[in-house]
Amino acid sequence: MSKQNIVPLEIESMNEELANFMANLKQNTPGEIEFHQAVEEVAEIILPYISDKPEIKTAKILERLTEPDRSIIFRVTWEDDEGVIHTNRGYRVQHNNAIGPYKGGLRFHPTVSLSILKFLAFEQTFKNSLTGLPLGGGKGGADFDPKGKSDREIMRFCQSFMTELSKHIGPYTDVPAGDIGVGAREISYLFGQYKRINGKFTGVLTGKGLSYGGSLIRTEATGYGAVYMLEDMLAVKGKSLEGKVACVSGSGNVAEYATEKLIELGAKVVTLSDSSGFIYDPAGITREKLDYIRDLKQVRRGRISEYAKEFGVEFFADKRPWGIICDVALPCATQNELDGDDAKKLIQNGCIAVSEGANMPSTKDAVNAFIAAKVIFAPGKAANAGGVAVSGLEMTQNSIRLGWSHEELDKRLRDIMLNIHKQCVECGVEEDGYINYVKGANIAGFKKVSEAMLAYGVM
Ligand code: GLU
Repeated sequence: MSKQNIVPLEIESMNEELANFMANLKQNTPGEIEFHQAVEEVAEIILPYISDKPEIKTAKILERLTEPDRSIIFRVTWEDDEGVIHTNRGYRVQHNNAIGPYKGGLRFHPTVSLSILKFLAFEQTFKNSLTGLPLGGGKGGADFDPKGKSDREIMRFCQSFMTELSKHIGPYTDVPAGDIGVGAREISYLFGQYKRINGKFTGVLTGKGLSYGGSLIRTEATGYGAVYMLEDMLAVKGKSLEGKVACVSGSGNVAEYATEKLIELGAKVVTLSDSSGFIYDPAGITREKLDYIRDLKQVRRGRISEYAKEFGVEFFADKRPWGIICDVALPCATQNELDGDDAKKLIQNGCIAVSEGANMPSTKDAVNAFIAAKVIFAPGKAANAGGVAVSGLEMTQNSIRLGWSHEELDKRLRDIMLNIHKQCVECGVEEDGYINYVKGANIAGFKKVSEAMLAYGVM
């Protein structure tokens, strides 16, 4: 049998188009593995989507979107408590501002590289578009490791970092926020330094403290949002979170608030993790135990293994939680923390839904496995958009010089997540009724950005 008899012609030529597209990208950006991974997921969906849209194809919108508007790389020199001088590399990738100022977090982690930040900034553009708010996409950070550093060292690093970054950001230009390794403490030091350099009190960062322009719900938003998404996805199937067993990874802000919301909605969370391993608590993490984790992680900055000792549960060193039996899974740690084998284990164990609290935590093999098994799967750009959405609401509140109430903001967050879910369904429902949220999120996110880019002409 010839090949044409097995693979329909249009699929074959589409595969070829994708292969050529990726080959070009890889040639232009050698070694940027994470960036290639993020682009491939989008191109695989957008190339067929635009095949009958000549205006988008000839305007080369997708090609333009794979080149950030600019990537700024700078030296950050700082002095530790012993007077030793250190130099790190700082970045800001301003990906796309077609629909609003560049917006996205800052990550401080030793693995930070141009490839990681380009993938994150690329994802952010689609994610921010999905929120329905006027936000472009960007991401930044440094290869600085906050682990084990004193408060003073963090302060000096943040001040040095912002001294350079401040030249490139502004409330109408680029509005950074937190991400891994950048929480309330770091945002405060960064905002203080920006204000000192510019002499202006403006909403140039989000995730600020409540006493100086921050928004209620911002801390909770990413985790809550990922659970709201899960709730909406299950509702389509006539199911709820009540009584469901959940595996959550991570133990930072996203994992903590996802756990809090899961508990509130009647689910039992049995795992949490950090870079040293995971804990398995078959009885379920309670609100009291969650308070312990908050103190452990945010105040004492300790390891998750201490939870196992404190509550007499098992700790699995250097392992990931995906082999534990669960109904729903929320990867909330970091990119590529759930691979094809992990996905197979989850599927075999009867997991019915996955909501990504982190950015690109599932590898391509894992995503393919979930979709092939018709598992309900929400990619990070849809599921974790609640964080940046409330950042957008923080910008609005800063502009109108008002602060909304907890209830008002939670309602707005809930509505935004519901609307993201709706857009995913509209653009992602397959012929057999399966909702492909990856397809839905990519097409819905792309639509708005491409429309704006087309309107601006060639630039
Ligand atoms: N870092 C978060 C994200 O990945 C939040 C970004 C923001 O609030 O600007 O979406």
